[in-house]
Amino acid sequence: MDDEALVRLARDLGASDAAAVAAASIVVDDALAGRCAPVACPFYGRSAGCPPHVSGPYAFRSWLKAFSTGLVIRIDVPAALLRTGRCETHFRRLHCIAAAVERQAAARGTGNAMAFAGGACKQLFCAGDPDCAVIAHGAPCRHPDCARPSMSGFGVDVARLMAAAGWTFTPLTAASRPANAPTAPICALVLVGRLTAGPRPRQSFANIHEHLGGIFPVNEFPPAGVLDCRSLVVNSSG
Ligand code: SF4
Repeated sequence: MDDEALVRLARDLGASDAAAVAAASIVVDDALAGRCAPVACPFYGRSAGCPPHVSGPYAFRSWLKAFSTGLVIRIDVPAALLRTGRCETHFRRLHCIAAAVERQAAARGTGNAMAFAGGACKQLFCAGDPDCAVIAHGAPCRHPDCARPSMSGFGVDVARLMAAAGWTFTPLTAASRPANAPTAPICALVLVGRLTAGPRPRQSFANIHEHLGGIFPVNEFPPAGVLDCRSLVVNSSG
């Protein structure tokens, strides 16, 4: 399955759009990763997919040297849903699509693949659990088929990522007028392609990435819950 087929797969699974960009064009900014901090985010430190449990911008930059392509996946979410905090289904779908594309990319046998998505997996998948199984018990992730690390913790510049994909990115803010911004994008990224020269990337989120495989249940996304995702509005794409 080539990159174009992976793009089609993402669209077929429900993405609003997807595009392949050169891994070298992906911008990582330490300051963006720094926004993941106690108080600023209620999910900081609460899952293996968020800081300080991910290896951050330094490691991500090394991965960018090892992969050739980034597959950018976008879902346009009604702005009203983001404002009212009923967008968790969209974020879960985003994670599931990214994980499915990652599996297919890895299965083609030419290299490796690593998926990242917007939103904190503790909120999206384990809100009903007291802790993260990975960091609390050293156990496998409860949702390896879908949950992926948040791009925010690695400092991925989503605005520039979307520009590289050829999309216009208008972040949703309190001042946004509904008529001008009926939807807001949320994004995922899958690093794919034949590994180039250099060390093989170390998986920072091994308990999830090591559980690849199985059949992706296209029509069986995790059920909608009653999670409040209003905290994701400002940082909805990271
Ligand atoms: S068990 Fe998995 S999905 Fe749940 S919080 Fe931990 S890493 Fe995230």
